[in-house]
Formats: sequence, structure tokens, C-alpha cells
Amino acid sequence: MNDKTKELMRIDDTFVMHTYGRFPVVLEYGEGAYVYDTEGRKYLDMVGGIAVNMLGYGNKKLASAIGEQAARLMHTSNLFYTAPQSLLAEKLVKLSGLKKAFFCNSGAEANEAALKLARKAAKLTENPRKTRVISAYNSFHGRTMGAITATGQAKYQKNFAPLVPDFDYIEYNNLEQLENAVDKNTCAVIMEPVQGESGVHPAEKEFLAAVRRLCTENKAAMILDEVQTGMGRTGRMFAFERFGVKPDILTLAKMLGGGFPIGACLAGEGYQDVFAPGDHASTFGGNPLAATAALTTLKICEEEGLVENADKTGAYLRGLLKGAECVKEARGFGLMIGVEFEKPIAKKILAAGFEEGIILNAIGDSVIRLVPPLILTEAQAEEAAGKIGRCIKKALEND
Ligand SMILES: *Cc1c(COP(=O)(O)O)cnc(C)c1O
Repeated sequence: MNDKTKELMRIDDTFVMHTYGRFPVVLEYGEGAYVYDTEGRKYLDMVGGIAVNMLGYGNKKLASAIGEQAARLMHTSNLFYTAPQSLLAEKLVKLSGLKKAFFCNSGAEANEAALKLARKAAKLTENPRKTRVISAYNSFHGRTMGAITATGQAKYQKNFAPLVPDFDYIEYNNLEQLENAVDKNTCAVIMEPVQGESGVHPAEKEFLAAVRRLCTENKAAMILDEVQTGMGRTGRMFAFERFGVKPDILTLAKMLGGGFPIGACLAGEGYQDVFAPGDHASTFGGNPLAATAALTTLKICEEEGLVENADKTGAYLRGLLKGAECVKEARGFGLMIGVEFEKPIAKKILAAGFEEGIILNAIGDSVIRLVPPLILTEAQAEEAAGKIGRCIKKALEND
């Protein structure tokens, strides 16, 4: 390790709170699907800033659009109209079939907006007890107080009690528990169409159909958290298209700005005019710079057919991985892939990845998650499968 790398790591360890277990690698710049560190090593990035960098690194069109907008009008308040935000809202409404958008800066904030919107909508009914929110175990919805309450995993909630009242949890894909949980006092059901953070577990079609039906019958908001699955990740612009259901409220973030921070909460029929001025706000939400980044990312996504590419290249990559040694299952849709191994070797595979020049993400002991940029080519999918194959061999050798 060179002196520059060591010194940068020392400064970070001294002055940044230790909320992350960081790898001993300092990333410096990137190009396309590759990223380089301060040691001059090159990595094929199969995680893409955790499912964020739709266009990979260093996209010139996106960088110059951001640069031009920064020079023109970077930030102003939401007390004024600005063209990029209005046009982005129109674009997202057209793509999703929902009605209106609220902008924020992250996935957790998008879910906070969704939960507040559902609670407000329920307040407008005659039932004062209509406050319950149903979410799934092993879900992930973010790290704010509302979002960790919705996140059905004890490890994220411990140390932070008391949480937000009136949340209930059910097993994902368990129809019976769902039927028993949803009633007239339910104000929202929040689900990911594919659970990402817990290892890429897709919903069953009947499960999301039942969520849709029960929400409609009980006048509860169906919230789909597509923070990770949205914007083409699964080979559809939105994962809900794969399930034949439409949510009342849809949350987006991760890939939306192509790496620039922005989140959105979209509201469908009956929910689009529930918030009144003063009910919810965000100082930075949807500012001209962030909205321009999102508009430009979407434009490039469409011009380059990246949603179709995610579908095609993702299926190809899954096929390659299914044939690899020790692989029990390669599941998911598009470029959202969970690879489960027959042995608890995920962490060793990840470590071997740094030697092989590939960035991977481990979930628990026996799953790796691949959420690469949507620009991934077939040749890069082959490169990834080859490198992962060698990582598996190394992991098995020192098992
Ligand atoms: C990443 C993620 C979030 C949280 O997004 P942040 O931008 O980190 O707040 C919420 N929901 C899902 C499904 C996610 O994958």
C-alpha cells in the first residue's frame, strides 16, 4: 500500500464516524463499468455504487449537463418554479402511469414521504384508527426513524427504540399472514417488488396481486419501494410492470440521478392531491441540478436502450453464473442478481474479488448480489462470470 493510500485511510478513520466497515481501498476515478484505486488497480464494478451508477462512471454527457446546469442555476428554493423539476415530474408520471411527484434526496426520504402521504390520506377518512402500516420481514426501506421502523430487520432497529408506532410485520410472500394483517385500520402496505438488501428475493406474482386487492378493498395505500428496482434495474422501467399491478404510491432513488443524489415519491389516483402546502417539504428536494441529472440520465437511458440491455445482459449473466462451480441458484431479474452458493463462501469470494479486479457485494455468508451499471456489455458479463468463477475456486481452496 502506498503512502498516499495509507494517509487517506488514516484521515478518514480519524475524522469520519465509523458507520461503515470500509474495504482498505481508496477509489479515485472511473470509466464506464470500471473503477480505479489510488494503487493504480482496476476493478470491474459489479455493484455500481450499490445499485446507483446506471451509466457507470465518467459519462461525458451526464457530466457536461450537470456542469452546464451548475453554472446556470444550481439551487433555488421550492418556493419557485424551475423547469428541470417540472419536466422531470412530467417524465416520471408519463413513464409510471401515476399522477404526481414529490422530490427529495434519498430512498429513505422517499419512503418517509410515502408513509406520511399514506397517513395523511387515512386521516381524511372517517376512521381515526386507520394508522397501521404493514411491511415485510427482511425488507429494507432506509435508515431514518420511519424507514427503519418499516424495515423488518431487528439488526437495523436495535439501539434506536422507541420506533414509530403502529407498524406490523409479515413474512414476505406469505398470503395467509397478509390476509390476516390487512384490515380497515390499515393505512398502508409497503413492499419491495424484489427484496434487494436481504439477498435478491423476488415477490411472487400472487402475493403482490393480493396486496393490490387487499389495499383496494380496505382503502389502504399500496406503497411499492422501487428505490433499488426502479429505473430499469430489472429489465423493465419499473419492476411492478413485471407483476401486472400498479401501486398507489411508488418510491424511487438510487439510479434516478445516475449517481447524483435524488429521490422521488410518486402518487397515483386518489393520492396525488392529499398533501397540501406545508404538509411536507425538502430544502434540496428536486433542485435544478439534481433534476437535470435525473432528466439527462433518463434521456441517455432511452437513447442507449439500457432497460432492454439490463433485461438481455442480465439474463445472459444469470445463465453463465448458473453453470459455475458451487452455485446453488442465480436468481433475480435483469441486472439485479443474487447468486447463492452451496457453501458459506460469500465473504471469501468478495475478498478474492479484490485480487481478481472485480467489486462484488456479499449478503450474509452464502449470497453475493450483483447490481452493476446498466451499460454492462455481453463481453463484460463474460468477464464478470470468468472472474467470479476464479474467485469461487480460490474461496473453495482455502475453505
Ligand atoms: C437503498 C434502499 C433504500 C434506502 O435508500 P437511501 O438512499 O440509502 O436512503 C430504501 N429502499 C430500498 C429498497 C433500497 O434498496
